[in-house]
Amino acid sequence: MLSGWRDVTTRRPWRISAKLLIISSVVTVIGFSAICVNVMLDMRRGEEALARQTLDNLATSIEADISRNIEIYDLSLKAVASNMLLPEINAVSKPIRHLILFDHATTARHFGAIQVFDAEGRLTIDASTLDPPPENRSEEDYFRVHRDDPDAGLFISRPMLFRGAYSIVLSRRISDTDGGFLGVVTGSIRFSYFHELFERLNLDPDDTITVLRRDRTIMMRRPFDLDVIGKNLGTQQSWKADNLKAGGSYAGQGPVDATPRLYVRSTGPGPLFVVAGKPLAAVFELWQKEAYRIGAVVLALILFMLASTLVLAREISRRADAERKLEEMATTDALTGLKNRRKFDQVIDVEWRRAMRQKTPVALLMIDADHFKAYNDTFGHQAGDQVLVGIAICISDSVRRSGDCAARYGGEEFAVLLPNTSAAEAFNIAETIRGKVQGWSDDQATSTVSCGIAGLVPTTGLDWPVLVAAADKALYAAKAGGRNQSVVASLPKLSLVA
Ligand code: GH3
Ligand code: MG
Ligand code: MG
Repeated sequence: MLSGWRDVTTRRPWRISAKLLIISSVVTVIGFSAICVNVMLDMRRGEEALARQTLDNLATSIEADISRNIEIYDLSLKAVASNMLLPEINAVSKPIRHLILFDHATTARHFGAIQVFDAEGRLTIDASTLDPPPENRSEEDYFRVHRDDPDAGLFISRPMLFRGAYSIVLSRRISDTDGGFLGVVTGSIRFSYFHELFERLNLDPDDTITVLRRDRTIMMRRPFDLDVIGKNLGTQQSWKADNLKAGGSYAGQGPVDATPRLYVRSTGPGPLFVVAGKPLAAVFELWQKEAYRIGAVVLALILFMLASTLVLAREISRRADAERKLEEMATTDALTGLKNRRKFDQVIDVEWRRAMRQKTPVALLMIDADHFKAYNDTFGHQAGDQVLVGIAICISDSVRRSGDCAARYGGEEFAVLLPNTSAAEAFNIAETIRGKVQGWSDDQATSTVSCGIAGLVPTTGLDWPVLVAAADKALYAAKAGGRNQSVVASLPKLSLVA
């Protein structure tokens, strides 16, 4: 058995087409762009994570500093509140009482003097003076809170003007042993403490530090703006308790200005917490520069690649066209437009082997113009050519199946290969052609053709020249029989030859 691999000889070698080139370039560009975008987004996420970590560290260390100071101060307040219960405290002289009540911590730079108010809100003791002026604070928050709630603990007031300086007031209740209200002890931390704390940090002008009480009242902010101090952010969507939890963050507009920032809240447990903010433009500044740079290079590469692809694709299709034309010219008969002898020999070779594999019949017509020499002599060679063209048209009109192959075999001789066709069917086709030629030619100079037909199922040991020879033989028989007729070759034994 002959195997299929021999068919390969007649197949076109694999070639990249213009379309395939364009598709593969576009796919490459899309894939390449996707990778680039992914890498850029990864870099952006990295920048954001780094900024978040930096802001977290900043906010948490500021909160720690504030908490430590409040704690130190609170210890003094607690000491005063408990020492006020000593029975001797009212018996000793004022200077001794001062020594008992106030330690040195309370004299630190940004701390205001500790004061003691009685149950009516009257100032009774002041760490800064032995004879405090009369003063009543019964209407202040920090007084009322302790009067009304024995368990208020350390109360931190809203920022306020306290003794000529903006401060936050820290207070504790003085209760007797039964829990009865004896008064309030207060102290204050001046804003100068926060200013100095923030100045120590290396911050950009647009970076923000916001110090908030647990109820989200702004205690202090950098950049400093008196209008926002004391404002409560508990109702602001991004800042309310549910959204900005300890260690949490968000990117967007803040409560004060329109600049979008990355805001990160401190993680500490102190009575005040800190939110540090950095403009998103600053967070992504480096990344953006890099993204533009890489983006421009990638875009230029992509454009270059697409442009080269288009130029290449045009060149490839131009060449493919030229090749196709050349091939067509090389396989076509110039006068009639039918396949030429060379092509016919290739086709019959392929079809013969296919028929052999598939055990199907293959038929061949050999068609020859009758008395053509005489025609040429009478009407001239050019008129003869026209007859040949006419015969070719009659043949291609009658042979329409895709596998069929009509060719000009020699001067005024044509061959038609009919795969999958029996001799009987081939005879009918030959008769159709013959009839068409006869009907087409004019009365003055009737042109006719004679046809020899051969058909068989190829078997091992037989080669296609056998078919050609048989058809030729039949053609001679047709000529001998008087021309303008079709004769089928008798091949009784051929197909049985081993
Ligand atoms: P028969 O009926 O036996 O086939 O007679 P015939 O004259 O057709 O056969 P013969 O072989 O004697 O002559 C063939 C002629 O065909 C000779 C040649 O001038 C002519 N011929 C061959 N090729 C061409 C061609 O391309 N154009 C023209 N006009 N004539 C051709
Ligand atoms: Mg002839
Ligand atoms: Mg001839």
